[in-house]
Amino acid sequence: MPEMAILVEGVNKYYKNFQALKNVSFSVQKGECYGLLGPNGAGKTTMMKILYGRVFHSPSQGKISIFGLDPHKQSLEIRFLTGIVPQDDNLDYELSVEENLAIYSRYYGLARKYALSRIEELLDFMDLSDKRKANIRELSGGMKRRLIIARALLHSPKLLILDEPTTGLDPQVRHHIWDKLRILLREGVTILLTTHYMDEAFQIADRLMILHEGEKIAEGKPSELIQSHIEPYVYEIPQKKASSCQPSGYVRIEKSGEMIRYYAHDITVLQHLAECVPPGTGFIRQANLEDVFLKLTGRELHE
Ligand code: ATP
Repeated sequence: MPEMAILVEGVNKYYKNFQALKNVSFSVQKGECYGLLGPNGAGKTTMMKILYGRVFHSPSQGKISIFGLDPHKQSLEIRFLTGIVPQDDNLDYELSVEENLAIYSRYYGLARKYALSRIEELLDFMDLSDKRKANIRELSGGMKRRLIIARALLHSPKLLILDEPTTGLDPQVRHHIWDKLRILLREGVTILLTTHYMDEAFQIADRLMILHEGEKIAEGKPSELIQSHIEPYVYEIPQKKASSCQPSGYVRIEKSGEMIRYYAHDITVLQHLAECVPPGTGFIRQANLEDVFLKLTGRELHE
């Protein structure tokens, strides 16, 4: 039986009359990377903030345990086992890169000598050593993100919680951060992350939940979610330019925004459709998590 890092059972969350989370349950095993995938407003940040005690959650509205601890009664113990990478940039702009880390090391009560070597180690790990004296204003968006991750790792947490770790960053920086997260996973750190990027969820989550309007609508390994919910091939084309040919076999059609998507098990059926329009008008690709989301909700992740 795998050991649990996080257990969430039947959690509801209301902001006045608005229900932001509806009976959400999931569990994360130690050493696993679990993702919450959903569009803006799905309830991802609310779930994260409940877990790290930033949003009040009544115990009568579900059960939560982190490493067997109750966030209501043992929030301090949980804080020392957990590193938080919030969505907002909450760095101290009056301080340099290394001072930002030093101040947190004091918050965690790290002995001065140990703190200095840990800061060195983390600056190196996040490729920020040459920026140690820099002011936060001099850092790029990617560097700030890496510094926030370094800061969350100072006390060697067993669980790292990241809220949209790569939103707004360019593809190269995103891959760099994913590489670092993979190293942490290999070292046994448990990771919980939220994202609205299906490629991020696919790249690093061992398992994920798709969250829509506060509700869990699917859960599983990324590749299994695609296999179990969707046909493997998609032909995507602007509706105005859609093929007038009759499909030669089974296709399922989804219209969304300006696009029409034909889903099929047999790629040759899609190739036949594509031959009826001028080359380069549409394209055939493999199905992905975005398609799963579209099928389950009738909406796109980034509408
Ligand atoms: P994003 O990716 O934009 O951060 P999200 O999936 O993290 O979205 P949440 O921030 O958890 O979503 O918000 C879920 C819903 O709860 C939204 O409709 C939001 O407007 C609402 N909400 C969040 N915080 C509050 C609050 N403090 N008071 C009232 N409503 C809130």
